[in-house]
Amino acid sequence: MTLHEPARFFANLLVPTSDPVGLRGRLAEHLGRHARCETTETGEVLLSSELGLSRLTLEAGGLRIAAESGDPTGLAYIKMIMADHVLELGEAGLALHWTGAGASGSPLPFFRAMTVTGVATVGRFRRLTLRGDDLGRFAEGGLHVRLLLPGEGVRQRWPVTGDDGRPFWPDGNPPPARVYTLRRLDVAAGEVEIDMLLHASHHDAPGAAFAERARPGDVVGMTGPGGGDLPEATDYLLFADETGLPAVVRMLAEMPAGRRVRAFVEIEDEDDRQALPSVAAAEVTWLYRRDGARLETAAASIGAGDLPPGTVVWGGMEHAARRAVFRRAVDVWGLPRDRLRLASYWRRGQAGTDHHHDD
Ligand SMILES: Cc1cc2nc3c(=O)[nH]c(=O)nc-3n(C[C@H](O)[C@H](O)[C@H](O)COP(=O)(O)OP(=O)(O)OC[C@H]3O[C@@H](n4cnc5c(N)ncnc54)[C@H](O)[C@@H]3O)c2cc1C
Repeated sequence: MTLHEPARFFANLLVPTSDPVGLRGRLAEHLGRHARCETTETGEVLLSSELGLSRLTLEAGGLRIAAESGDPTGLAYIKMIMADHVLELGEAGLALHWTGAGASGSPLPFFRAMTVTGVATVGRFRRLTLRGDDLGRFAEGGLHVRLLLPGEGVRQRWPVTGDDGRPFWPDGNPPPARVYTLRRLDVAAGEVEIDMLLHASHHDAPGAAFAERARPGDVVGMTGPGGGDLPEATDYLLFADETGLPAVVRMLAEMPAGRRVRAFVEIEDEDDRQALPSVAAAEVTWLYRRDGARLETAAASIGAGDLPPGTVVWGGMEHAARRAVFRRAVDVWGLPRDRLRLASYWRRGQAGTDHHHDD
C-alpha cells in the first residue's frame, strides 16, 4: 500500500523507554532496509511497505508506535516485526502491550492449523495435500510458508496473539519451523499442495522427517505467506534445484501469455522431473546431478550477450550455488540488483533456513 491509501485496521504501542530518540533512530535504520522510511516536517518517522504503515512519534514516557494496515494479516505482521525489533534494539526487560485490533489471545491472522489429507510420492519428494480454513490470504503476497512441524506423537497446542503482538505458545514450546512453497493453492477447496524433498540427511531433519512419516489426519502449523515476488519483465531466467522447483512450478503456472522463460532445474535424475504447465513460452533444461550437471556450470555457459535486455534473473537453490549464479549475474551479465531475485533455500551442513536471503 502507499502512504495515502485508506487503512482499516489500527493498533498502538507505547514503548516505555528513557531513550525514545535513540530507539526511534535504531528502528528507522534497521527497518528502513526493508521498508520505505521518511521523516515528516513535524519529526514523525513513517515506515511503509506492502504490509501497511507505522508512525513513530516521541511522547511523554516513551516512543509511540501507531500501526495501520488494509488487512488483519498485514497488521499482525507489523506488530510482530515491531515487537521483535523493539525487544532487540531497546532496553532490556521491556514489557510491550499493543492496544487496538488483534487483541491479546485472539487468533493469529497469519497462522493456520492444516490437516494432512493426502500423501503421494513423486520422485524423491513427498507431495502433501493440506486442508485448512479461510486460505484466501495465502493466495496473495508471497509463494512461501513456514511449516511448524510437531515431533512424532506430540499433540501440539497452537499459538495465539501475545500481548506484545508476537505469537504466544500456551505450552511455551514452539516446534521446529521450516520454509516451503505452496506449489498449488485452491482457496475454494481450502487446500494447498507442498512438495517436500526427502533429502540425503532427512532422518534427523524436522521437515523431511515429518514429510516421510506424514499420514492423513496429521496436523501441521502454517504461517505466511511471504517472499517469491517476481518483478515485471518480458524475459525471465530461472535457476532452481529441487527446493526451488515448486516455486518454478507455481511461477510458470501463474505467468501470463507473452512472457518468455528460460529455466534451469538441477535434480538428481529423471525420476524427479515434473510437468511444468504454462501459457508463457517456457524452455526448461533439466540438469541431472547424477551426470555431473550443475546450476553453476549452466550459468557459466551463458554470456552477457545471451540475455535479452530487461531480463529478470530468479533463483532458489543451495547457498554456494546461489553465490556462484549471483556473482555471474553481477560481474559478467552486469545486471542491476532490482532485476535479481536469487535466494539461498538451504545450506549444506546447516539445519534450518534462516540463512535465506534475497539480493
Ligand atoms: C523460500 C524457500 C522456499 C522453499 N521451498 C521448499 C519446497 O517447496 N520444498 C522443499 O523440499 N524445500 C524447500 N525449501 C528448502 C527447505 O526449507 C530446506 O531444505 C530445509 O532445510 C529443509 O528442512 P529439514 O528439516 O528437512 O532439514 P534441516 O534440519 O534444515 O537440515 C538438516 C540437514 O539436511 C541438509 N539439507 C537441507 N535441505 C537439503 C536439501 N534440499 N538437499 C540436501 N541436504 C539438505 C542441511 O544442510 C542439514 O545438514 C525452501 C526454502 C526456502 C528458503
